[in-house]
Amino acid sequence: MIEISHVDKFYGTFKVLDDCTTSVSKGEVVVVCGPSGSGKSTLIKTVNGLETINSGEIHVDGIKVNDRKTNLSKLRSRIGMVFQNFELFPHLSVTENLILAQTKVLGRSHEEARAKGLALLDRVGLKAHAEKFPGQLSGGQQQRVAIARALAMDPIAMLFDEPTSALDPEMITEVLDIMVQLAKENMTMMVVTHEMGFAKKVANRVIFMDQGKIAEDAKKDDFFGKPRSERAQLFLSKIL
Ligand code: ADP
Ligand code: MG
Repeated sequence: MIEISHVDKFYGTFKVLDDCTTSVSKGEVVVVCGPSGSGKSTLIKTVNGLETINSGEIHVDGIKVNDRKTNLSKLRSRIGMVFQNFELFPHLSVTENLILAQTKVLGRSHEEARAKGLALLDRVGLKAHAEKFPGQLSGGQQQRVAIARALAMDPIAMLFDEPTSALDPEMITEVLDIMVQLAKENMTMMVVTHEMGFAKKVANRVIFMDQGKIAEDAKKDDFFGKPRSERAQLFLSKIL
């Protein structure tokens, strides 16, 4: 579903991604971890073209992302992305947040989009908050709305960039529970997170990044059993 092949990216002379190669198969859950500044966010954003690359290739569902001829907004509409800071529209109600892209981008009728949005709100346990504004919700609730909004677009894959790192501890579980559920329903997911409990529960593979390189790309059990690189061992010993 996602193929990243020999990707390099520079910010000026700084090499933020260094020969990154990996893939995510349909239905697979891949967790990306590593120290701050190692390039995790940059890597995940290259998948839907939110960051350009300098060399290499990226394909999503057979479509080349780094190609001028590719309709990036169309591709992005099929890939759900959830960020650390929710990024909901503050001036729109929860329901309106869920409806907007469905009608504007997918051309669904208002009624259809609303029904779909409310069903997803129910699924993330927030039906009672449909008419509130994002600012009236807790961080955990806002993030669940953001996930519902992404799912409303019927995505072929979901990208998460540290979806729980801005949340108070008691709210982390309510967001992770929804992500676990999604994983169990075989959603294709690439998840940047330091929540190793989540990784242990549902990841198929774990990628460890260090200084722009994919230092380790291993099956979950191999990664937690015995990480190959010393850097990954040290990282795990600090956060587990
Ligand atoms: P991570 O998500 O692993 O913390 P990032 O992908 O956000 O890492 O950033 C990797 C490196 O690239 C960091 O050193 C960061 O300072 C640098 N960087 C990120 N965005 C930019 C930018 N727009 N311009 C210059 N440097 C950047
Ligand atoms: Mg980051």
